[in-house]
Amino acid sequence: MKYDVVVIGSGPGGYVAAIRCAQLGLKTAIVEKYPVLGGTCLNVGCIPSKALLDSSEHFHNAQNHFKEHGINLSKLSVDIKQMIERKRGVVKQTVDGVQYLMKKNKIDVHTGLGSFKDKHTLVIKGGKEEKTIESDKFIIATGSKPSDLPFAKPDKERIITSTEALELVEVPKHLIIIGAGYIGMELGSVYGRLGSKVTVVEFMDRITPGMDKTMSKELQKVLKKLGFDFNLKHKVTGVERKGDEVVVTAEDDKGEKKEFKGNYCLLSIGRKPYTEGLNLEAAGLSTDERGKIEVDDNLKTKVDNIYAIGDVVRGAMLAHKAEEEGIFVAETMAGQKPHINYKLIPGVIYTWPEVASVGYTEEELKEDGRKYKSGSFPFKASGRARASMDTDGLVKVLADKETDEILGVHIIGPRAADMIAEAVVAMEFRASAEDVARMSHAHPTFTESIKEACLAATENRALHI
Ligand SMILES: Cc1cc2nc3c(=O)[nH]c(=O)nc-3n(C[C@H](O)[C@H](O)[C@H](O)COP(=O)(O)OP(=O)(O)OC[C@H]3O[C@@H](n4cnc5c(N)ncnc54)[C@H](O)[C@@H]3O)c2cc1C
Repeated sequence: MKYDVVVIGSGPGGYVAAIRCAQLGLKTAIVEKYPVLGGTCLNVGCIPSKALLDSSEHFHNAQNHFKEHGINLSKLSVDIKQMIERKRGVVKQTVDGVQYLMKKNKIDVHTGLGSFKDKHTLVIKGGKEEKTIESDKFIIATGSKPSDLPFAKPDKERIITSTEALELVEVPKHLIIIGAGYIGMELGSVYGRLGSKVTVVEFMDRITPGMDKTMSKELQKVLKKLGFDFNLKHKVTGVERKGDEVVVTAEDDKGEKKEFKGNYCLLSIGRKPYTEGLNLEAAGLSTDERGKIEVDDNLKTKVDNIYAIGDVVRGAMLAHKAEEEGIFVAETMAGQKPHINYKLIPGVIYTWPEVASVGYTEEELKEDGRKYKSGSFPFKASGRARASMDTDGLVKVLADKETDEILGVHIIGPRAADMIAEAVVAMEFRASAEDVARMSHAHPTFTESIKEACLAATENRALHI
């Protein structure tokens, strides 16, 4: 079989690239080693984690807030099996949807591990039969896998990664989380809300490093309210399973040894690019010291007909970044001139309240020596937030001191994940803080807080505080 384009990997990068290639008239195939399409995001990432975050937030609200709303419930309990079952249903519907999209766009789906024979030939192993396909061009979208520590290999029962944390058969009594990045904070929230004691052990001096510091601080505050015990500046030195118990040893910044005992330990120290079995060398390719495939500004590898996108290349490991890159490569191949503004790829943490950011953090602006203004607005001053008892958090807008152009928007608050889109649009069109402040925002909405923070950034003239 001979194609114009073969996409290797069916995550959000790969399947979106395949659809756009097909839309542009290219004869396209997609190769996926698992029998289901959708990759990490749809099967063991974004979608299942959000399903469990929603379920657990319903429980948490019923337990802690319904009474205040005047709703009395008795005998509230968690049915973790049903919660996981519902999550499986959501995943199935979503991955079936991708299968449908492949069919609709006349994209051939090959199941099995794709392995290069040369730069135009791919062998597909592990499916019903071994197949060889040829293609003019390839897009590598093989994604990533959870990282582990040299002394802490997951046994997948008690020492787990995010993948197993999405399939637990019981609510852990005590969940120890190594790593305070977004995946750890999201999955910790799921089980913290369902009643687990959650202990976080993190090497850095703050949680969610990389996010604006104000956001990290606020998030830590709300997660503490949920019962999280944070141990920052702690270097983990050992993780050992003893029967049904897991013992984590660590050293704090003063060199003092600490021991944490729980019944589950989630390793969430990041993700690493995945290229195992691809046989990159046969195509003339290799990976860098971090295991990533190197690409140029057009996402082309050093081999002329091979592109790479998503988690397997540099940049944020996010589904929507992978999607944008998939579209970019398809359009570049078709001779178009697409663009991606990497500075405007939003980042979201789906805790409650949610955290969402786009553009520069305050720390980055300071480091660059850029002159900026800052305006904030707390949700406790928002009528909409008070109505739904979602008063934790704030919006912070950073704007250029001279021109008033918005440089960064950071939100921790209700529906921040959806609200950040307003900031992305504004920044894509290079709006000033005053531009947004002068636009009518429906009342009462959470988005009024963005307007107020923009007013604060413009000339310190927020109205409702
Ligand atoms: C718990 C969790 C929650 C997350 N939540 C979010 C979120 O809310 N928002 C967000 O933006 N991102 C989230 N992410 C990150 C997101 O899942 C990834 O950034 C995204 O999936 C990357 O897409 P991709 O297409 O590059 O690769 P992947 O989705 O990893 O897909 C790669 C695919 O390639 C296949 N493959 C690999 N090698 C081969 C081969 N040789 N032959 C054939 N097939 C192969 C794999 O089986 C896989 O299906 C989350 C991740 C995790 C783990």
